[in-house]
Amino acid sequence: MKESKYAAWVDKEKRKSTFHSFDWFLLVNALFSFYLCLQRLGSGLYQSLSHFLRSAPAITGVMLVAIVTYMVLRLLRPYGENARWCGLIASVTVLSLCWCVAFHHLIVMGNVTLVYPLLIGLVFASLIPFYLSPLLLCLFTVPILTMSISENIILRGAASLANVFSYLLMLFLIYSAKRMLEKWFMLAIERERENKQLIDRLGKLANRDPLTGLANRRYFSNYFDSVFSREAESREPFVIILLDVDFFKKYNDHYGHQMGDDCLIRLAECFENCVRRSQDLVARYGGEEFIILLPKSNRAEAIAVAERIKTQVAAIAIPHEGSDIGQWVTVSQGIALWRAGVGREQLVEMADKALYQTKANGRNGYTLAGEE
Ligand code: GH3
Ligand code: MG
Ligand code: MG
Repeated sequence: MKESKYAAWVDKEKRKSTFHSFDWFLLVNALFSFYLCLQRLGSGLYQSLSHFLRSAPAITGVMLVAIVTYMVLRLLRPYGENARWCGLIASVTVLSLCWCVAFHHLIVMGNVTLVYPLLIGLVFASLIPFYLSPLLLCLFTVPILTMSISENIILRGAASLANVFSYLLMLFLIYSAKRMLEKWFMLAIERERENKQLIDRLGKLANRDPLTGLANRRYFSNYFDSVFSREAESREPFVIILLDVDFFKKYNDHYGHQMGDDCLIRLAECFENCVRRSQDLVARYGGEEFIILLPKSNRAEAIAVAERIKTQVAAIAIPHEGSDIGQWVTVSQGIALWRAGVGREQLVEMADKALYQTKANGRNGYTLAGEE
């Protein structure tokens, strides 16, 4: 993965993780406000529920915002991630302001012992969804902390050294917890990247011929299956060409196995240059045999590719002293065109028979199955 692609992927994963835990955070907000509702109503200060709602709208406001946000984020799904992200920012801002008003109300009413445990719990809970987003973390925590610390100092005159130290301790805890969680996330994401790369590499190894770098027979087989079922269903013509290097045993005997390998590599490169479309596949079928699959192709296109191969193999002119038909390496080809009613195995057999015919006709050429 390239660095820019990696950075974009990390950003996407960060947002995914934030969205993932945000529902939980909404539930925490709703539960906290529900607890406060019960606690307030049980305190006997309010004659009725409507009296409470009128006196402390911010507490029920939190519950409403949590429920509405949960639904809005779902409704925004079809509009993309950016729209949902904006919804999330708006919701976090409103939640934070509601809590500021609610806590202010409680402090003014003299419920400081109720406010601070809730406030600390809420601020630390916000680390779970927001540790990957400094913006969201600040939007939520800064107003609440600023309000509570300043009210504590102004209303209660609690500006002692110990209090200042406790505020600093809380800020330090928030910051260090955020850093640690972020480190774990980056570690996990790095592992995932390594695993992805490994799977990629293994996939390539499983599908590539190690000598020529072409697709191997296994990959060809899978690709052939998918093309066969698709084209047979839509009744579109397609072609396979089986290729075999002429007198290759003699080549090995004359030049040695290593030179034989080099020859196969050069031929593989040459065959790849002879197909034009991305859906055409050149594969090593086994030993000195290759196979080409040309989806959505007819007789004329098949002949054009076979001709190109013959010309290009002649053009790269690999010397072959041991050949019985000349002084250069040549290949024989068997072409089979699919038609309705022909099965998968049958098509390969047709190409094999046509290749055999080319050999019988003197090699270095091609034969179309059914036209021998
Ligand atoms: P024909 O013209 O009839 O095709 O004869 P041929 O000699 O090409 O065919 P034969 O099947 O008799 O021999 C194929 C040779 O290909 C034998 C084998 O050693 C060689 N061969 C198969 N795979 C490789 C390989 O990966 N590297 C090398 N160097 N040789 C290989
Ligand atoms: Mg052979
Ligand atoms: Mg051969």
